[in-house]
Amino acid sequence: DPRLARISSSIRAIPDFPKKGIMFRDVTTLLLDHQAFKDSIDIFVERYQGRKIDVVAGIEARGFIFGPPIALGIGAKFVPIRKPNKLPGPVISQEYTLEYGTDRIEMHLGAVEKGERVLIIDDLIATGGTLEAAIKLLEQVGGEIVECACIIELSDLKGRDKLGDKPVYALVDYE
Ligand code: 5GP
Repeated sequence: DPRLARISSSIRAIPDFPKKGIMFRDVTTLLLDHQAFKDSIDIFVERYQGRKIDVVAGIEARGFIFGPPIALGIGAKFVPIRKPNKLPGPVISQEYTLEYGTDRIEMHLGAVEKGERVLIIDDLIATGGTLEAAIKLLEQVGGEIVECACIIELSDLKGRDKLGDKPVYALVDYE
């Protein structure tokens, strides 16, 4: 797809953020390039329209940037998956392991119903721990995961191996 080169070059790399040795991929610079931002949303909409997706579930925080325009484009609802204690209503939650300790993500009860077809969106897959937790969270309420979609995959980290048979689609791959 000829649109991918511009998307890829619009993403800024910031060395040593948030700590030494990490090369952070900054998608905020993609948002500054109207054409690249629009193309990235269009590619996802073209891929998922007609696939009977009921729910786009976006992971805090950058899944909240890309998820809603995709949801509007394919006629699905948008459901935020949030960090702990942010959502005001009753929630279900899923714990997951980090490099040091554990974390938790939450979703409003009733936002996704049993049998609904779900597309999960985040900006980036690294180790796959976050998407793995999101899949488990959605499966707790009977959601059917169609695919996980990201702007960026860091394929050296083999995150997709953690997700079993759940497909991952990413626009660009940085090693
Ligand atoms: P994982 O759980 O796959 O190891 O990490 C993915 C999560 O961490 C995503 O929610 C993503 O937003 C965040 N993340 C990790 N590294 C980066 C990075 O280099 N750039 C951005 N934008 N997000 C990152």
